[in-house]
Amino acid sequence: MNSTPPQTPREKLEARLRYYDDLNLGAFYTDRRTMPKRASKKRVAVKATAAKLEVHEIAPAAPAKAAFPVSVLPIIPASTMFDISERIEGDTLPRIREDLGECTRCRLHTTRNKIVFGAGNEHAELVFVGEGPGRDEDMQGLPFVGRAGKLLTQMIEAMGLTRDLVYIANVVKCRPPENRKPEEDESGTCSPFLYRQIDAIAPKAIVCLGLTAAQSLLNTKDSISRIRGQWLEYRGTKLMVTYHPAYLLRNPPAKREVWDDLQKVMALLGLKVKKASK
Ligand code: URA
Repeated sequence: MNSTPPQTPREKLEARLRYYDDLNLGAFYTDRRTMPKRASKKRVAVKATAAKLEVHEIAPAAPAKAAFPVSVLPIIPASTMFDISERIEGDTLPRIREDLGECTRCRLHTTRNKIVFGAGNEHAELVFVGEGPGRDEDMQGLPFVGRAGKLLTQMIEAMGLTRDLVYIANVVKCRPPENRKPEEDESGTCSPFLYRQIDAIAPKAIVCLGLTAAQSLLNTKDSISRIRGQWLEYRGTKLMVTYHPAYLLRNPPAKREVWDDLQKVMALLGLKVKKASK
């Protein structure tokens, strides 16, 4: 067995796909570029498994327009695994939902009631990312509808927005038992769908609610106090990390810092920045 850690983007992608194969996970993408027109029901599904993988290195000059035969997963040269996930041209939220299906890719499916895919505006300029559904979300199949969700709604409205103008999603789409943090393998298995959601929406800004969301999008081990409140970047999109609303319920004085963070987001989006109430 080759014990050298994967070096190149291709080796890293192959290692990741082999890992998914070993876990018996299904395909993450359906390649619709080769699908016949809507009139025909016949679909070509591509399994990007390690065994079948053919890779085309795309020259940076013309990555988007390249025509790929069936069974080919293009690799965009990137420095980390987090940058490697393919951007799918013309991807949409309904397609991502369809690819997710009645997911059984990780152990969380065994205890969930409903999948919480995400909710809001497909063309939102602002995406909020939380950790994972809690009890209320699991019952309703909607993100942030419990106590922390009510506080998030107030935060959104204080920004002069409404929930249907933004998009709200989570790192994992099924409730972790007892509201524990998602395990690394659960986040790793679910997050490609979150990445696709963000790519499809193409917002101007992302707000990570808490460290789990920040870790999923930034691949960081930093503490929340080190990274919150400053503009960071996720694949070219401005990203702000702030405290999770559930933390604010336990620690209301931290609302002031969150409001400072949200004002920076408002300024970026061209929303009228209000003075904090005394
Ligand atoms: N907490 C989260 O992180 N997400 C939800 O959807 C609800 C609570």
